[in-house]
Amino acid sequence: MTGEKIRLGISSCLLGQKVRYDGGHKLDSFLVDTFGRYVEWLPVCPEVECGLPVPREAMHLTGDPDAPRLVTVRTGVDHTGKMMSWAGAKVLELEGARLCGFVFKSRSPSSGMQGVKVYGPSGSPVGRTGGLFARAFMEHFPDLPVEDEGRLNDPVLRENFVERLFVFRRWRNYEENDGSAGGLVAFHSDHKLLILSHSAVHYRELGKLVSGAGRGKRKELNGAYGKVLMEGLRLIATVRKNTNVLQHIAGYFKKRLSPDEKEELQEVVGNYHRGLVPLIVPVTLLKHYVREYDEPYLKRQYYLAPHPLELMLRNHV
Ligand code: SF4
Repeated sequence: MTGEKIRLGISSCLLGQKVRYDGGHKLDSFLVDTFGRYVEWLPVCPEVECGLPVPREAMHLTGDPDAPRLVTVRTGVDHTGKMMSWAGAKVLELEGARLCGFVFKSRSPSSGMQGVKVYGPSGSPVGRTGGLFARAFMEHFPDLPVEDEGRLNDPVLRENFVERLFVFRRWRNYEENDGSAGGLVAFHSDHKLLILSHSAVHYRELGKLVSGAGRGKRKELNGAYGKVLMEGLRLIATVRKNTNVLQHIAGYFKKRLSPDEKEELQEVVGNYHRGLVPLIVPVTLLKHYVREYDEPYLKRQYYLAPHPLELMLRNHV
């Protein structure tokens, strides 16, 4: 499961690098100590890399939220041109880095993923948007999983992000090392229940794409599949959607389990549905039956083991 580390971009200050405007850092211990065991980080500090010193005057975004400018707060120096020309070159350079995603520093006018305040002429906020580098990155790599460290404190968003990273890496491995019609069918088959737990609509759309895997141009088909896949996985796997998938899996065992075992399984799934136990509880019981009855289709489902257990991402209620 862990294997090769996932390569992710990250705002340098989250790794503890002292690159912030005030000479400080914003070390994030979950990212570095826990998640860091599975990740190879590629730090990027847009403000330092575009040529600004440490320390430096604080900046904020001003003007039109759709085309904001990066301006120093006290003296009004406009660094937009400098930042944009650096960002344009940086995203081209990052094409070669084979990143599977990016973790941005929240609320930064350069690195914030979303919700960064934009100030009008009166000095009051007139809207919100992403920081200049984050916007350029997301525009250049629209399918790559991205998050900011603030949102990652939410266990649901954290699980969603990590799940997308692992799927994206498997997808990229398939594209780079296989790319065949048979490989696409196998990839889809192994991810079916995972996709269904995020979106039945995307599940159906991907199924249609795969049914045409032997026809047409492979590159276009794979491009379309990857796009719809990552779009679908951005949708949250809610308790209702997970319950649906758990019942679907339970259906495989209805002729094999004793009445007592069936009752216990329904009770565990029901307890998850009612918010009494975390997802890991019904998943563990179902995995036990998958092993016991050696169910070949279910054994291959990433839904049952989407990311390392040690991250404890399915342990929240
Ligand atoms: S938020 Fe971004 S620009 Fe600011 S110090 Fe961190 S990495 Fe550098």
